Amino acid sequence: MTGSATTTPTAPTVTPDRTTGRRVVVVGAGVVGLGAAAEAHRRGHQVTVVEQASGVVGSSVQNFGHVCTTPQAGDARRYALAARERWLSLGSAAGFDVAPVGTHVVARTAAEQRLLGELAAERGPDEVRLLDAAETREAVPVRPGPVVGGAHLPLDLLVDPRAAAPALARWLESRGVTFRWRTAARAVAPGRVETTRGVLEADVVVVAAHHDLDRLLPDLAEEVGLRRCRLHMLRVAPATPHGLATPLLTGWSMVRYAAFAACPSATDVAAELAAGDPAAAAWDVNLMATPQGGTLILGDTHARADDAPVFQDEEGFDVLLRLGRDLFRDDLLGPAPRVVERWQGTYATAPGREFLLAEPAPGVHVATVTTGIGMTTGLGLAADVLDRAGLAA
Ligand SMILES: Cc1cc2nc3c(=O)[nH]c(=O)nc-3n(C[C@H](O)[C@H](O)[C@H](O)COP(=O)(O)OP(=O)(O)OC[C@H]3O[C@@H](n4cnc5c(N)ncnc54)[C@H](O)[C@@H]3O)c2cc1C
Repeated sequence: MTGSATTTPTAPTVTPDRTTGRRVVVVGAGVVGLGAAAEAHRRGHQVTVVEQASGVVGSSVQNFGHVCTTPQAGDARRYALAARERWLSLGSAAGFDVAPVGTHVVARTAAEQRLLGELAAERGPDEVRLLDAAETREAVPVRPGPVVGGAHLPLDLLVDPRAAAPALARWLESRGVTFRWRTAARAVAPGRVETTRGVLEADVVVVAAHHDLDRLLPDLAEEVGLRRCRLHMLRVAPATPHGLATPLLTGWSMVRYAAFAACPSATDVAAELAAGDPAAAAWDVNLMATPQGGTLILGDTHARADDAPVFQDEEGFDVLLRLGRDLFRDDLLGPAPRVVERWQGTYATAPGREFLLAEPAPGVHVATVTTGIGMTTGLGLAADVLDRAGLAA
């Protein structure tokens, strides 16, 4: 079908420039929008991505780069398994690194090790390989004293978040996907997207605006209670080579990811963490780290509200650095770790759901990950979204 245009009194017209397939307009160039664009392009459609910024700047570059496959459950697991395949194939096609290194989890109490054992019993050794204390100390540069054991989750992947999605966008552009950078969608409706540079006609619209859904489709966002979750994040440069080859999760991580949280010992782990460190619990910490080059990304805290004011309380960073020093060997972070970057990350959150897939108007499809697992699942949503839109594979 040939792309055609309509005009509005206020704006010039923009016409998608490919001439085969159906016209798909994707709003948002984060990992979710790029995943939808890649899949629609693969299925032979004319794809235009509308992005208000001049590049990929949203949550998709603010995160750990942890493709956290095994800790997911339910729909998230299904999307994560599909996304894992997409990361590997798109990484090799688009030329960015996707490291199949797995994740290590360190257990520092008997309850944490019990919880790892429960997930291992459910998933089996292909997904959860239990480690004893000596093996864990050998595998990850943690302070040896408190370690009682750990696990390796071989399915998990590691990407560089600042490289991966931008590389994917560049590759899609080189393959014929049209990108309208610095162009905001002002309204979406059946058959059209009104942008700040004119109107795009579309057979299918995919809204992947993440937390800014509340600015484009406020009623839908309000209906599901969509809000913003703000996170403290740090990049630290260890004093000696860090020797961490995989993402590293702790007990604080176990209690938040659905597969762990469903295990019987999760309540014991949550209770002992809250009792042992009320300050960290008050910041709703997920103590984890990923290696990125010679540095470590260390995070994170969580605070939910409608908006995401940029002002970050230094106490959140203090808590993370204290926990980081307790976790890692002395020679790594030492008494005064060198912090090379601090930032506030923001992701969408909504009570009681991990995804918002909706069709608020005919042919307008919303795809939002409503918790902090979009790098893990985002590329896997695309097939479902396009199937729902009737865009056959
Ligand atoms: C600090 C932090 C750590 C995280 N760590 C992990 C992790 O390790 N693993 C994991 O799986 N997940 C992680 N996440 C979550 C993950 O990063 C997000 O779920 C994912 O990036 C969401 O992708 P997205 O494409 O929906 O959103 P985004 O990347 O935010 O992209 C949305 C895009 O839409 C654009 N947009 C919005 N409105 C409009 C409009 N009207 N017109 C045009 N463009 C518009 C925005 O400019 C933005 O570029 C983390 C998130 C944060 C913040």
